[in-house]
Amino acid sequence: MERYGKAQFAAAIGLVANGVLGLAKITGGTLGRSSALVADGVHSLSDCGTSVAALIGLKVAAKPPDKGHPYGHGRAESITGKVVAIILIIIAVILAWNSASRLLRPHEYSAPFLGALLIAGASILIKEGLFQYKIRVAKKTGSTAIEADAWHHRSDSFSSVAAFVGIGASMAGGPKWAFMDNAAAGAVALIILWVGVSIFRKTWGELMDASAPEKTLGNLRALALEVPGVDAVEKIFARKSGLDIFVDIHIEVDPEMTVKEGHDIARRVRKHITGESDNVKNVLVHVEPHGSGADEAHLFNQPSDVIWRNFGC
Ligand SMILES: [Zn+2]
Ligand SMILES: [Zn+2]
Ligand SMILES: [Zn+2]
Repeated sequence: MERYGKAQFAAAIGLVANGVLGLAKITGGTLGRSSALVADGVHSLSDCGTSVAALIGLKVAAKPPDKGHPYGHGRAESITGKVVAIILIIIAVILAWNSASRLLRPHEYSAPFLGALLIAGASILIKEGLFQYKIRVAKKTGSTAIEADAWHHRSDSFSSVAAFVGIGASMAGGPKWAFMDNAAAGAVALIILWVGVSIFRKTWGELMDASAPEKTLGNLRALALEVPGVDAVEKIFARKSGLDIFVDIHIEVDPEMTVKEGHDIARRVRKHITGESDNVKNVLVHVEPHGSGADEAHLFNQPSDVIWRNFGC
């Protein structure tokens, strides 16, 4: 199999495994009287949903720009990520609420069945196996997405370990330890909540036009200065949209040159930057006369309404 095929195969394996594990755990947990196993099963199914949403997001994001979306479709990934994060948070809150209300309300003791314990144990082994397999594929293909996926499988096995311990303790400990199964369900809910919140935070930055890192800005500035005729870079903004970066750059040129000469330099700056950097999708170059940018030097120390009036120049 070639690299791309290997990566896709690894993604498909994870999807199927999570689907089968999720259904097995929810069924086994319901029949085997373990709310921890049901919670862990909901976790696996939600992972399935996350993967499907990510695939859809990637597919839409890969579409080229069109008339209705001249900046491309890169945000699709952040939007599906946001939806998934909100769903995960809601699921986690419901599971946590259920486990807390069962813990606080006295009820008859009913130990989980052995089957529930065995399913939780199998889930730990399968998840660890998936981790080992995917970390190897990640090394071979150099895919960071698969590496992240691998570590997710390992964190999933912690969720199953929590269920395993909870079920085992409430089976072995008798009525006194019956609460352990519910407590484990609460722990699983917290793990899901953590995953949801971290996806929410990541997509927040992407949807807010967060700036590209300072290092990237420095590299882009250096690239622009390499173009003959660019006397200075007055300011530069870069924002991420999906995997793409969009750049706004203000260059200073000789005030006496013609509009045509200035425009040619601007075009060379755009070509040079998009040619030399992998992720830069487009560069908007603004040309201004060298030596007149002093009034803009302290742009970010001014009140925000002044910044907005100055933005176009
Ligand atoms: Zn997970
Ligand atoms: Zn032009
Ligand atoms: Zn300017």
